[in-house]
Amino acid sequence: MSDKLLDREYHGPSRRRFLQMAAVSALIPLLNLTSRQVRADGLPPLEESNPTALGLSYKVSQEEAQSVEGYEPGRKCENCALYTPENNGCRLFPANSVAPDGWCKAWVPKPS
Ligand code: SF4
Repeated sequence: MSDKLLDREYHGPSRRRFLQMAAVSALIPLLNLTSRQVRADGLPPLEESNPTALGLSYKVSQEEAQSVEGYEPGRKCENCALYTPENNGCRLFPANSVAPDGWCKAWVPKPS
C-alpha cells in the first residue's frame, strides 16, 4: 500500500467522525426543546385506576376526594409540595399529569 492510501484511510474516518459529531451536536438543542415541550404539554393524565394512585386513593376532584377518609378540605394537588405546576405533574407520578383540583393521601404541605 502506498503512503497516500494509508494517509487517506487514517484521515477519512476521522473527518467522517467529526462531521457526525457536528451533526449530533447541532441536534442537541432541538432535542432539549422537544423534550421540554413534551413535558409541558404531553403528560397523560393520571387515572384513578393506576395501581399506585389506587393505593393512595387519588381523586381527580375535590368533590370526589371528600368521600375518602383522611381528606381535609382545601388540600389539593396544586397546593401540594410534590406538585410541579409547569407541567401539572407530581413527583410521585413522573409519567403523568395530575388534576390541579385533585388530591391523594400522600398530600404534603408546601413549606412556608
Ligand atoms: Fe396530588 Fe400531591 Fe398526591 Fe401528587 S402527592 S397526586 S400532587 S396530592
